[in-house]
Amino acid sequence: MSYDDPTGWQGIKSPDNPLPKTSPEGLSVFQPLVAPRGLTAELVARLTADITSGKLAPGARLPTEQEMIAATGVSRTVVREAVAALRAERLVVTRQGVGAFVAENARRPFRIDLDQLSSLGDLIDVMELRTALEIEAAGLAADRATAEDIRKISGCFDAIEEAIKRNDPAVDQDFAFHCAIADATRNPQFKRFLDYIGRFVIPRQIVWGKTAPILSRTHLNVFQKEHREIVQALRARSASQARAAMRRHLVNSRKRHEKLARMAGVRNDPARS
Ligand SMILES: [Zn+2]
Repeated sequence: MSYDDPTGWQGIKSPDNPLPKTSPEGLSVFQPLVAPRGLTAELVARLTADITSGKLAPGARLPTEQEMIAATGVSRTVVREAVAALRAERLVVTRQGVGAFVAENARRPFRIDLDQLSSLGDLIDVMELRTALEIEAAGLAADRATAEDIRKISGCFDAIEEAIKRNDPAVDQDFAFHCAIADATRNPQFKRFLDYIGRFVIPRQIVWGKTAPILSRTHLNVFQKEHREIVQALRARSASQARAAMRRHLVNSRKRHEKLARMAGVRNDPARS
């Protein structure tokens, strides 16, 4: 789930913001796919599981192309793409003419597989992680933001205000607001993290389609009141207030979304209910 998350497309395709007119014939995306992406992803997932579980130990040789083709029924292209993906992840090293081996220090890079988040519980897990990071980001931003950073954050706040007036769920504007605060920490890792999880950090887009009548302007005004408290704390250069305001915003936001998602019938994880 990221910027290309289909749940975000509805915003892009809105009448105020139509897609650019392109002739479909010319785009490569409209050409038939040679190898279904799904097979490669599936093979990568299986090999990764064998490596991270230790079934394929560091230094072990991967099954040969022929073995994998025979066992799985996929094409050579799929096997090669999968091995290339594992190499890019540094899970596998290839030796010319010899084959592919599990890397000696195969350590999986940190990753949240956003495509695998299906239940509300998964979504809440990511929100909790985000909450932890953004609380600290707000505190650092209060200490470190330049005057220009504060102007940018205020500009994003105003853009949310405008969007709410248009009855727009303000997903993009909200994301920009949180990114502007991450930037103001002057630590690029915060922004990288937000970019990584993308607009997924604004989970109302996931439930918006199903809950538009429920998610009223009143709801959006509550978000915005919380944003205002964050901006005020940043302007006052109070790290403790900024942390507290960000915490309130994200914890409340989580609660609201749990409620909305349940009302919309989004699958819940029974362990959390
Ligand atoms: Zn927000």
